[in-house]
Amino acid sequence: MTRPQQNDQRKGTNLLDMLPAEAEAELRAFAIEAGEKPFRAAQVVQHLWHAPREDFSAMHELPKSFRELLAAKFEIPRLTLEARQLSTDGTEKFLFRLFDGEHIETVAIPEGSRLTLCISSQGGCALQCSFCATGTMGFSRNLRMFEIAGQVREVTLLTGRQPTNIVFMGMGEPLMNWKAVDPTLTVLNDAKGFGIGARHITVSTVGILPGIVALGERKEQFRLAISIHAPSDALRRTLMPINAKYPLAQVIEAARVFDRRVTFEYVMLSGVNDRPEHASQLVELARRCKAFVNLIPLHAGGAGNFNATSPQAIAAFARVIRAKGVEVAIRKSRGKDIAAACGQLRVERQRGRTPVGSDQHGDVQVA
Ligand code: SAH
Repeated sequence: MTRPQQNDQRKGTNLLDMLPAEAEAELRAFAIEAGEKPFRAAQVVQHLWHAPREDFSAMHELPKSFRELLAAKFEIPRLTLEARQLSTDGTEKFLFRLFDGEHIETVAIPEGSRLTLCISSQGGCALQCSFCATGTMGFSRNLRMFEIAGQVREVTLLTGRQPTNIVFMGMGEPLMNWKAVDPTLTVLNDAKGFGIGARHITVSTVGILPGIVALGERKEQFRLAISIHAPSDALRRTLMPINAKYPLAQVIEAARVFDRRVTFEYVMLSGVNDRPEHASQLVELARRCKAFVNLIPLHAGGAGNFNATSPQAIAAFARVIRAKGVEVAIRKSRGKDIAAACGQLRVERQRGRTPVGSDQHGDVQVA
């Protein structure tokens, strides 16, 4: 399926831009032609994703001469690490440079035996949600499969730890890049890829209807999170311009017919969307599609002049929702000291400031 494109200045066949089964078929044919055993193909594929190696020369169980033949024909492109920051709470943030100079962010969030990666799907974002840092940088381009799945590969190489959970809550709107996100989901889930359970992979969207349908058509149980953020069209339009194209009623209907349970994301903006009547309206929406509600504390360093709702007021808002029988959780902030809210590190770099600020909160968590 995905073939290397001409514009990435590489000559070899990009093994990271193929599904594992395709890469294995291609490698098997190559091995046979080179007089090698066909099982060498599976060994190489294992080192693409599940047990990654930096390059062919580090695949030590392969004969040296075969490694050299592979390197002449195939590419395993790297993402260049530009910055890496570790929070006191263990959250770690990575800024990668891509082959064309584009920058993207990835965040690793350890919690007990879990390691959740928050990955980016686009360079920048076109959607301009009023409180989001990524929106302020505008849209550059869609990432390709090897750049989205490549973030997981690079972080595994850098940390030596296998992620257990993936959330598409980094930069960009994954369902506006379905062409690359679709095969990426396969690589994440496939036993010959990362082998991460579909229920541990969450796609977060503002509510791109065709994308929700496409995700629902996948047979695996990938999870869907929808950024709601306001319980009425009038208010949601002011926060999320995309609401003009995909109004709430249609988004809720898409969530209702989606065959798995969905999560609502709701960022708490003081004096804007955090009154008791908002909670009641939100309950109505959640009931219609049996959603689980995740309340997100606003993180400083986003965009606009919003203030965070106090923890007490968030708790009160949650109680209103829970009292009406809808499941609700308050999301924990992670990486507060490293500007870990998605988009922040790149924005701060572009401004030429140090990205670390004690008042910066990182929202990078996990549906
Ligand atoms: N485009 C997708 C995925 C990326 S954003 C989406 O919108 O769902 C992932 C989540 O982070 C979204 O719910 C987004 O609204 C939220 N977010 C963005 N900026 C934030 C901020 N400053 N504070 C808290 N959450 C934020």
